[in-house]
Amino acid sequence: MNKTLLAIGAHPDDIEFSCTGTMLKLKKQGYDIYYIVATNGEHGFKIADKPKEQRIKVRHKEQLNAAKKLGVEKVFFFGYRDGFLKNNDELRKKLVKIIKLVKPEIIFTFDPANKTFDNINLNHRDHRYIGEAVFDAVFAAKNKYMYPGEPHKTDYLYLFGSDKCNYYEDIASTIEQKIEILREHKSQFNDFDKVEEWIKTYLSKFTKKYKYSEAYRVVQIEQMFK
Ligand SMILES: [Zn+2]
Repeated sequence: MNKTLLAIGAHPDDIEFSCTGTMLKLKKQGYDIYYIVATNGEHGFKIADKPKEQRIKVRHKEQLNAAKKLGVEKVFFFGYRDGFLKNNDELRKKLVKIIKLVKPEIIFTFDPANKTFDNINLNHRDHRYIGEAVFDAVFAAKNKYMYPGEPHKTDYLYLFGSDKCNYYEDIASTIEQKIEILREHKSQFNDFDKVEEWIKTYLSKFTKKYKYSEAYRVVQIEQMFK
């Protein structure tokens, strides 16, 4: 079995909010972990004003620090403009290239099927489009002809930010570590104590089964014809 995970977020911090509790457990089981961060996240900045180039630098550095704390092999930054992501050939080609390179068994990303539009943060344009682009790229990556390179079949999608979750991961053993990793995104939080309280409450509400959990719509990629 290929023990590799690929987590894909639109902004620096998306992965930390969504799935690090689960990935810490899988890391212990021997998985190698890679990240893709599609945009620079330069339009989300809660501390002192800085010019754009500096904001980009800070957000990249924070993402690298957070990834290092989890033990990620590599973070691929695509460098798109925050808030303007499109699901197009260019983005899909980049995604396919990394999928073929790292050959993940599981990909974590936003659920593109969540079109509830009831939360301007969760249903953010970049979150919707990265989810859709990844879904399309998973198909394209297993296709022999669409893009260069050996095809790769991903086995599972773990889709977070979903309104139709079918799987809950108990993260009681990793929640403290998850919070310490999230803390690395310092430019995002004026008062981290409040964030910690908020995230603990958020993660306690997915299911009554576990004190804290991360929730997904898990999609198994079927190979229809061999
Ligand atoms: Zn985001």
